[in-house]
Amino acid sequence: MQHFARFQAAPFPMEMHKVRVIQKLTLLPIKERLAAIVEAGNNTFLLKNRDVFLDMLTDSGTNAMSDRQIAAMSLADDSYAGSETFFRLEASVQDFFGLPFFLPAHQGRACEHILAKVFVKPGNVVPMNFHFTTTRAHIMECGGRVEECFLDEAIRSESDNRFKGNMDLHKLENCIASVGINNVPFVRVELGTNLIGGQPISLSNLEAVSAICRKHQLLLVIDSSLLSDNLYFMKMFDPLCEDLSIKEINHRISACADIIYFSARKLSSARGGGLVMRDKLLFDKMKVLIPLYEGFLTYGGMSVREMEAMAIGLQETLDFDMIAHGPQFIEAFGNKAKEQNIPVITPFGGLGLHVDARAFLEHIPGEQYPAGALAAAIYIVSGARGMERGTISENRNPDGSEHVASMELVRLALPRRVFTLSQITYMVDRLAWLYENRALIGGLTFVDEPTIMRFFIGRLAPIGDWQTRLVDKFIADFGSDAL
Ligand SMILES: *Cc1c(COP(=O)(O)O)cnc(C)c1O
Repeated sequence: MQHFARFQAAPFPMEMHKVRVIQKLTLLPIKERLAAIVEAGNNTFLLKNRDVFLDMLTDSGTNAMSDRQIAAMSLADDSYAGSETFFRLEASVQDFFGLPFFLPAHQGRACEHILAKVFVKPGNVVPMNFHFTTTRAHIMECGGRVEECFLDEAIRSESDNRFKGNMDLHKLENCIASVGINNVPFVRVELGTNLIGGQPISLSNLEAVSAICRKHQLLLVIDSSLLSDNLYFMKMFDPLCEDLSIKEINHRISACADIIYFSARKLSSARGGGLVMRDKLLFDKMKVLIPLYEGFLTYGGMSVREMEAMAIGLQETLDFDMIAHGPQFIEAFGNKAKEQNIPVITPFGGLGLHVDARAFLEHIPGEQYPAGALAAAIYIVSGARGMERGTISENRNPDGSEHVASMELVRLALPRRVFTLSQITYMVDRLAWLYENRALIGGLTFVDEPTIMRFFIGRLAPIGDWQTRLVDKFIADFGSDAL
């Protein structure tokens, strides 16, 4: 048998922390879970948390804080302008990224709003490894569009490429040449690509992208919201990083960028965000919009308590034990799921386990939202909520037809340091039952469809009575009082 060893791919994950505060959970009976998902319009965003057993929707604002973070919150210095808290946060940000200029913003998408407002003009094209929902929406609101330059491998669900998030350098060069340098306001790289399964990018690829940008004098913007997972994967699997500390790796990343932005709801396990840069001119261009949209320059819409937690959380991200926990639990979750033949995205990435809904529900066409249907079915049979990351998360084509997503995923996020191995074992057990009974699952159709980012608040209904038949089968197998 393989034994546990730190800094290696472990046979099982290990918590290098202990639990000191707990929150009681409830698991509703299955008929009440059915009623809850119907009331939520089959959209897991619209469930009430009190009806949720394991909240695997996202890692945004839901990571567990450390004792040091909670302690720091009580030192917060409340002041509209010039608070000590801001200067502590600024020093932590500068040390963490190794860059001098910092602008605070209330969360990641607020940074995207500022970037799009300052740089994107109608007709512009922003090349990137993969889009994120809010990023693309802000670019489109300013009249621009996104062009993705991902590896062909990126959207293959099973792969052994450790860095599926890498940019395809030829596609990037071709994109820049075909739209013209003057139409490219910046190139964007997302570390730990969210929508294709939390897949990382390698340091060598990032440095190559940076070299291309410098050759053309284009700005390189890095979205570091999922940086902590990406740092782990670089340290573990990128030969360039083998002898570097986490901090040295992070400073090599920063050296590639002109602007870095992040959601502190993910990175640093607090709630907020920010933009970081080397160049005073870029700083001056963006800073004027912070008081208009976010708040004064020394809080940017954040609470000072969260800012104190963020200052500590960034420093804790330099600790291998902190950044290893998420990916190693995801790997354990994925390996157990694979043993049960549940189709999952490989290699296992960051953020959560990504179930391949297209392979799980081969009988459901893209227009009937297999990932949305699977997310609803998972809630019904387990009480856990995941997030649809497939066609519902896309926009319709201009002619109103459905734009079927390149990948149809249900993400079961593992917010950092929150869930235990027994809860993961429970999830695998329920997913295995659902997979055996997958033929019972049917599609969904919209009953209320917003035009912008419909996945957040849109409402859907099942096509036919498959949800009641699924509940009946569950009760037949487990008994009427089974949870
Ligand atoms: C979550 C996320 C964002 C947006 O951050 P918020 O704080 O939720 O607004 C942007 N980019 C990526 C890659 C993300 O994962």
